[in-house]
Amino acid sequence: TTEDSRTDTTPTVDAVPEIAPDAAHPSHPGPLETAQVQLAHAVQRLGLDTGMHAMLATPRREMNVAIPLRRDDGSTELFHGYRVQHNITRGPGKGGLRYSPSVDIDEVRALAMWMTWKCAIVELPYGGAKGGVSIDPRHYSTGELERVTRRYTSEIMPMIGPERDIMAPDVGTDDRTMAWIMDTYSVNKGYTIPAVVTGKPIDVGGSLGRATATSRGVVHSARAALRETGQDLDDVSVAVQGFGKVGSHAAEFFAEAGARVEAVSDQYGGLHRSGGLDLPRLLDHVRRTGSVVDFPDADPIHNDALLTLDVDVLVPAAVEGVLTAENAEHVQAPLVVEGANGPTTAGADAILTRRGITVVPDILANAGGVVVSYFEWVQAQQAYWWTEAEIEQRLEQRMLSSYGAVAEMARREGVTLRDAAMLIGVKRVATAHRTRGLYP
Ligand code: GLU
Repeated sequence: TTEDSRTDTTPTVDAVPEIAPDAAHPSHPGPLETAQVQLAHAVQRLGLDTGMHAMLATPRREMNVAIPLRRDDGSTELFHGYRVQHNITRGPGKGGLRYSPSVDIDEVRALAMWMTWKCAIVELPYGGAKGGVSIDPRHYSTGELERVTRRYTSEIMPMIGPERDIMAPDVGTDDRTMAWIMDTYSVNKGYTIPAVVTGKPIDVGGSLGRATATSRGVVHSARAALRETGQDLDDVSVAVQGFGKVGSHAAEFFAEAGARVEAVSDQYGGLHRSGGLDLPRLLDHVRRTGSVVDFPDADPIHNDALLTLDVDVLVPAAVEGVLTAENAEHVQAPLVVEGANGPTTAGADAILTRRGITVVPDILANAGGVVVSYFEWVQAQQAYWWTEAEIEQRLEQRMLSSYGAVAEMARREGVTLRDAAMLIGVKRVATAHRTRGLYP
């Protein structure tokens, strides 16, 4: 068959990583191991050959840059930055830029790979990419962050562009960061190119609804998952780990929909109140103090206690690797909705599956952000902006149809939602590779 003859032309590469869940570092498996285990499962189920597996496991392009910063006090400091295009077969690279001390090349590779599957699952005409700088943005002034951002942009300039690779905010970056990138890129090209980044401020071509899109998508996914067991948001309790761009708005929208948000946490501490926290007041407290800590009318709670709290829905919305082979045994929530990328290690995932806990995976649950990024890019390319209502409605529609397709695949194949999402995403990318063929 055509399928077979095409299979024959795929390169034979024997460097496909064979990694057992959490094997290399039992207590702290890295995100790349988790991502590779997930891919290996999908490859096996789809019956893809070793050559295709190697192509899907390996980033297409990577750039590694040194970023010298002149600090406000006149001294110089050097940072390491990365941009990884995991896959560009279905379209330009797409994915966020992360500023965090934990950033290294393997973390960026994992995050880039997840973007590839995510974009394919929600049917965006993009590949997957990610960038990062190993810097703790909390310890630098606005001017210093601007200089780091502009220098990073300048270093990776040959790799990015509206048709090549489009950045967006991620942990530690925001709309202001995107404005600096857009300006640096545009000034160098000689004209304004808003479509080089998404998640920009509205006044320079950003989209309405982008800032809250990931959180809206998380809540749409949770609602869709609850419906399968005849529940709705107004009869559930929720715990949200992480109170940043994703977690804070998700908590807000859960509460607006009638859910009891009983616990939240940020990097400084956590809060618990059975019966539900007063979200409008909490958001106001966070705006004033910069943290959820010391909010009145709530008890402090540790991160591990929050993750294993007796609630209906657990939303990890911070960083990778928080649900591990150690604490997954103690998770009590029957539904986990992943707002963060990679919050569940491969080892934890196997335990949650065995325990019958439903996990709406990151590559589906948090795809709302990149969906509205796509809307922003389309609007910028056409120089025609949509109303907020149009964006919200198209976002909801795409989240629900993607959820429906993943849930149906899970039922048909008898697999978890994560495995089903991976089957859909990986298959679309593999098909695009086969359809395009190999050059030369
Ligand atoms: N950083 C977000 C994510 O991980 C958004 C990416 C984008 O909009 O390109 O999905």
